Amino acid sequence: MTDNLSTDTFVVNAGRSRIAGQPLNPPPVPASNFYLPHDRLYARSHGTETSDALEELIGGLDRGRSLVFSSGMAAAGVVLNRLPVGATLAIPTDPYHGVDGIASEGETLGRWNLLRLDLADTQAWIDAAATADLLWLESPANPLIDVADLPAICGAPRKPGTIVAVDSTFATPICQTPLDLGADVVMHSATKFLGGHSDLLAGSVTVAEDTLYDEFRERRMLNGATIGALEAFLTIRGIRTLGVRMERAQHNAQILAERLADHVEISIVRYPGIASHPTHEVAASFMTGFGAMMSFDTTGPGERANAVCRATRVVHHATSLGGVETTMERRANITGQETMPPTLIRMSVGIEDVEDLWSDLTQALESTVGMSHS
Ligand SMILES: *Cc1c(COP(=O)(O)O)cnc(C)c1O
Repeated sequence: MTDNLSTDTFVVNAGRSRIAGQPLNPPPVPASNFYLPHDRLYARSHGTETSDALEELIGGLDRGRSLVFSSGMAAAGVVLNRLPVGATLAIPTDPYHGVDGIASEGETLGRWNLLRLDLADTQAWIDAAATADLLWLESPANPLIDVADLPAICGAPRKPGTIVAVDSTFATPICQTPLDLGADVVMHSATKFLGGHSDLLAGSVTVAEDTLYDEFRERRMLNGATIGALEAFLTIRGIRTLGVRMERAQHNAQILAERLADHVEISIVRYPGIASHPTHEVAASFMTGFGAMMSFDTTGPGERANAVCRATRVVHHATSLGGVETTMERRANITGQETMPPTLIRMSVGIEDVEDLWSDLTQALESTVGMSHS
C-alpha cells in the first residue's frame, strides 16, 4: 500500500493500521510482556506495536529492514561489537566520538586492528574493502562535514564477508540511501533529524539482508538496547514531518552557508552545498540534498568563537543537532574534540525564518568584532 509512494507521502502514511475503529496513530504501548500464546512474548526481544510501526517507517525510508534502538550509540554498538577477535575495522580519522570510543577500546584490548582513513581518500577505502572486515563510514561527517564517495566505496570489490556500514545521521534518508549504493548497513541516530525535536534518544540500524537482521535483533535483545514506548511514539511523530523539515532546514542552510562564506568575519565555511567545499562535487554526484549541518570558523582567537556562540538571541548555544531549532557550539570545547580548529563553530540549521537567523548571526559577529584582532 505504501510502496512506490514518494518519500514525503510515505512518511505521512506508513506505520498506520487502517483498521476501522483503531486510532490513526500507533499508540505508545508501555508493556514488557504479552498474553500467551503469541509470537510476541517480551518487549526486549520482540518490541511492541509502537516500535514495529517505527521500524516500518525507517525501514521504508532506508529501503531495507530496520531495527530501532534506545539510542544511536546502542545501534552503532551492535554493529561494531559484532566483529570477531582479530578482525580489521576501518573508521574515519574523526568519527563520532562514541564510535571512536568503542573502536579505540577494541584496539587497546587487542580485539581488532584499527585502520583510520581520511573520508575524502576514496582509494584508501576502496583498498580497505579488500582487506578489512568492517568499513564504518560516517557521511557527511562530524564536524568538517566531509562527504565520502559512497557509490565508489560501497560498490568496491570486497573480501568475502566484509560489511560496509554507513552512519547516515547527518544526511537522513532524505539526502541519501546507502543501501541502494551497495552498503550492507545504514545507521541513524534518530535522536537527531529523524526525531527532529531534541526531546528523545533513539537509534536505528537498517540492513538489506535477513541474516544480518536476525543477528542484530539477537544482539539488541542481549544488550537490552530496545527503545522505550514513549521514545518510539515520539520518533514516529517526528518522522511524519521529516520531508518538510528537511526541505526548509536545507534551504536555510544553503542560504546561510553562502552568506557566511562572503562575510569578512568568517574565514572558512564547510557545507557540502557550496562549491568551495572540498567534497562538494562528490556530494553533488549522488546526494539528493546537502543536509542542514555546517561548520564555520570565525576570525580572531578561539575565545571570539565562544563569544559569538554566547551572543546569539535566536540561535541556541547547545550541542547536538537535528532539531527544529538552530543550535551551534564551538567544537573544541567538547571533551575529546580539543584538537578541532579553535575557531570552529558547528551549526545545526533549523526551520526558522532564514532572515531571522541571518540577522542574529550577523549581530553576534558584529557585537564581538573587537575580539577579532585581539
Ligand atoms: C549523535 C550521533 C551519534 C550517537 O547517537 P546517540 O543517539 O546520541 O546515541 C552517532 N553518530 C552521529 C553522526 C551522531 O551525530
